[in-house]
Order: sequence, then structure tokens, then C-alpha cells
Amino acid sequence: MTKSILPLVKKTDVVLMGAGIMSATLGMILKELNPDITIQVFERMDEAGTESSDAWNNAGTGHAAFCELNYTPEKNGAVSIDKAVKISEQFEISREFWAYLVEKKYIPNPAEFISAVPHMSFVWGDTNVDFLKARHKAMNESPMFKDMKWSENRDEISQWAPIVMRGRDNKQPIAATRMDMGTDVDFGALTRKLFAKLKTMPGVTIHYNVESLDLDPDGNGGWDVFVRNLLNEEKGQVNTRFVFIGAGGATLHLLKRAEIKERKGYGGFPVSGLWLKCLNEDLIKDHQAKVYGKATVGAPPMSVPHIDTRLIDGKKELLFGPFAGFSTKFLKNGSLLDLPTSIRPDNALPMIFAGLKNFKLTKYLIDQLRLTPIDRVNELKQYVPSAQLLDWELKEAGQRVQVIKKDKKEGGILEFGTEVVVSEDGTVAALLGASPGASTAAAIMLGLLAKCFKKEAASEAWKNKIKEMAPSFGESLSTNEKLVQQTRERTTKLLKL
Ligand SMILES: Cc1cc2nc3c(=O)[nH]c(=O)nc-3n(C[C@H](O)[C@H](O)[C@H](O)COP(=O)(O)OP(=O)(O)OC[C@H]3O[C@@H](n4cnc5c(N)ncnc54)[C@H](O)[C@@H]3O)c2cc1C
Repeated sequence: MTKSILPLVKKTDVVLMGAGIMSATLGMILKELNPDITIQVFERMDEAGTESSDAWNNAGTGHAAFCELNYTPEKNGAVSIDKAVKISEQFEISREFWAYLVEKKYIPNPAEFISAVPHMSFVWGDTNVDFLKARHKAMNESPMFKDMKWSENRDEISQWAPIVMRGRDNKQPIAATRMDMGTDVDFGALTRKLFAKLKTMPGVTIHYNVESLDLDPDGNGGWDVFVRNLLNEEKGQVNTRFVFIGAGGATLHLLKRAEIKERKGYGGFPVSGLWLKCLNEDLIKDHQAKVYGKATVGAPPMSVPHIDTRLIDGKKELLFGPFAGFSTKFLKNGSLLDLPTSIRPDNALPMIFAGLKNFKLTKYLIDQLRLTPIDRVNELKQYVPSAQLLDWELKEAGQRVQVIKKDKKEGGILEFGTEVVVSEDGTVAALLGASPGASTAAAIMLGLLAKCFKKEAASEAWKNKIKEMAPSFGESLSTNEKLVQQTRERTTKLLKL
């Protein structure tokens, strides 16, 4: 926790707004590519990684798209694995980048942020079993998912996830798939470690308790950034060549302030989350997997329920959820006015159209808000049949702001993915949305370089360094089985998984 007030640096090469996993990753990549680059970070909280990136605020899944069924939609009877393949390739890049940080001893002990936790899909009912079978067949053909195991055998599934099978109706048709090489990631711990390292690097200044308010073009191709110190209410101004808006849910507000044409037509729809946190140490001990089920109709992707082993602050935990909720805040520590004040002439229509088209989501959210503690435990019982209300407590998860954007055909669409908005000249970039989010931070930030640091990114020096940090970046892993094996073996060893 930092309470001291640092003087502002009048001019830096880069300003990072927000100290979440995205800014941390971009800051570290830039500093590795160019050790002379100067960076100034503004974070409104008194510590890094306390919003969506904090371990209790997200599900901690290293999203490699192994078992999250929402990444493999069924279209006309066929299971499409394209999205899963892309996410899986992106996750390998994150693993490579983290392995690089470990190799460089920036994060000497990877166990403090990443652990091996098998991923599973578990379904019940004939239709869902058929879907999972078709999914497994399609996925097994890709080198990314070759090691995926399939089972309809109750004894085997009981070994994989005892608490999921204990007390289950013997006649219920069930099936499961499993990837042993799944991971649980404490993105909050990782974020704080990255900023702790960045702080020691020359030319990096990190301001906590300082809020970014606005950014204006400086007339010379750069930006004047306006900030307020929340400890003494003093306002200040700094100048920079490049701004990254990595303010999580609040990115939309800041993007709207940047005078770039690309900001137009974007809106946001907040969805909050709730976990059931297990208090029973025996149950926690008995479970060692992240088990994903099928989402309810209308549920947003991040609300696909899962019963999850977590490692948070070195302690094993067990969480179920997330249940969805609704709050007009864009950040957990935000304001109830966030949603109403985000509606402007340029995004009002897209937001209305998106609202009208997503009736199922609205109904789903209303149903979720109506849930009583007993209803929630009844949902949990579908995964853990012997669950008892007394063993679980409710815990608030993070706030996600889903992207709404203008669409020529539909008027407005609601998206559940991550979207990077970059100004035409590449001097401003903003990250909207949050899925698959933190897991793909390294790939997203490396992808941003070609747009925002065009000249440097084309140089041999940067290309070589990028290869060193993330050897698979720019490669098609999914068509190269040998490369998949090689990179996984290497990162498994370095990350001590
Ligand atoms: C319920 C839930 C489950 C999720 N599960 C997963 C998962 O299993 N795996 C996964 O990979 N991802 C998951 N995600 C997504 C993941 O958490 C996000 O993609 C990721 O944390 C976003 O990082 P960020 O840096 O963009 O934002 P954040 O971590 O939210 O950081 C933004 C920072 O900006 C600061 N800030 C905001 N406004 C200002 C301002 N004006 N001035 C200065 N600072 C400001 C905030 O205080 C915050 O520290 C989940 C998210 C949620 C909500």
C-alpha cells in the first residue's frame, strides 16, 4: 500500500492509465523492448491489480479454451472450434511470456501466481452428452487439444472429480472431458509482481491514488494527460507520446474523452458477479479441478458456471459461480452513475438496439437477481449434489463491462470479447471488454505494438526480442504439432507446473 505523493514527471514516452494486468503486461513488454523508454503509470487505487485482475474478482482460469463450452458453439449440428483454437494459441503466448519473466528472475517463484489445476467439462442429459462427444471429437483433431481425455465412466469421473459424483443420481446420463495441463492463475499477484519489478526499472514512475481524468492532443502529435491526486485533490498535467487506457471497466469513460474518431459508437453494459465460496476444508481438499458446465439460455459467457479449485495467497480455495448480477457501476470501486453518464448521442442508438436484441440476457439477469441463497445452493447441487447451504458463503466478484458497438446491419450489438481500440496514428490505444481477458494479455499487448509502435516493431531488434519473449507469437501453433509440444514442455518446466 503506497500513501506517499510522488511528483509528476512532466514528460514521458508512455502513459499507462490504470494498473491492472493489461497495463502491467504492456509496460513490461515495452521496457524489455526498449530499456530507455520512459513510462508513467496512474492508478486511482492505492495498490495495483485490485479491480478485475484481483484473484477474488475473476475466476483465475488460465483460459486455454480447453473445457469452457462457450468457446465451442454448435452450428447446424457441427461444433465449431475456431474460437477455442485462437484462444488456446493466445494462452500459449502468455505462458511463454511468463516463462521469460521467470527465466529473467523478474518473478523467481512462478508458484506464487500460476499452478497446475486440471480443466474439465462436465455435462448431464443425453443432448449435452452428445454435444460433448462431438466437441471432444472435433477438438482431439487439433494439436492444441490432442491430449484431451473423454469419459462416460462413472468410476473414472469420480476419480477426476469426487465431489461432483458423490450423491449423484445413478441413472443420470453424464460425460466429462479433461485436460491435465490446465492452470489456475492469480492474475492479481502477477499484476503486483510485474509492477513491483517495473518500479525498480529506470524511467518508470508509478503513481497510486492518482486518477486519470482526461487527455487532449498537444498539437505536436502527442497527448496532454490530466490527473487528480485523490489524497490531496491536487490536479496536474503531464505530456506523453503514447497513451494506453487500461482502466478496466472505466476505459470507456476515458476513451470517450480522447478526441479520436475511433471512440464513436462504443457503449458498455456492466454485469457484476457473485461466487459461492466454500468454507468446508474437507470439500476444498477433495476437489482438484476446474469443472465447467453448460450455460443457461441467455447467460453471458462469463456466467458459465464452474466449480473451481483456486490458489489464492498460497491457500487452496473452492469457488462456485459466477452468478450474474447487475449494478450500474463500471468498476467494483466505481460510481452508480457510471452507466447513465456513459450514454451519449453517439452511442445511445447502438445501446438501445443492443438492449432490444438481447432480451434473453435481460431476462437471465432478472432471474439471477431474484435468486435466494437456497436457489443458489440448488444450482450448486447440480455440480456438487451433496452441497449444504452452511458450507458456503456469498462473495462479490469483479465488475465486467461488455462492449456495445455500432453495427451497420443491426444498429447496435453487444459483444462478450475483448476489443482494442487504436487511434489512426497509433498514439492512443484502449482496451474494452473482458473475455477471455487476462489470460490473453500478452498476445493482445504484443499485437498492439505493430499498430502503436509501427516503426520500432518492424525493426530487427524488436522482432528478435519479441521472439525471445514469446517464440510462438506470429506462428500458427495449431498447424504445428511439434511446436505445440516443444513450447508446452518448455513452459511447463520453467513455470514449474
Ligand atoms: C467475474 C469475472 C471472472 C473472470 N474470469 C476470468 C478468468 O477466469 N480468466 C481470465 O483470464 N480472465 C477473467 N476475467 C477477466 C479479467 O479479470 C480481465 O480481463 C482483466 O483483469 C482485465 O484487466 P485490466 O487491466 O484491463 O483491468 P483491471 O484489472 O480492472 O484494471 C484496471 C485498473 O484501472 C484503474 N482505474 C480505473 N479508472 C481509472 C482512472 N480514471 N485513473 C486511474 N486508474 C484507473 C482501476 O482501479 C484498476 O486498477 C474475469 C472477469 C470477471 C469480472
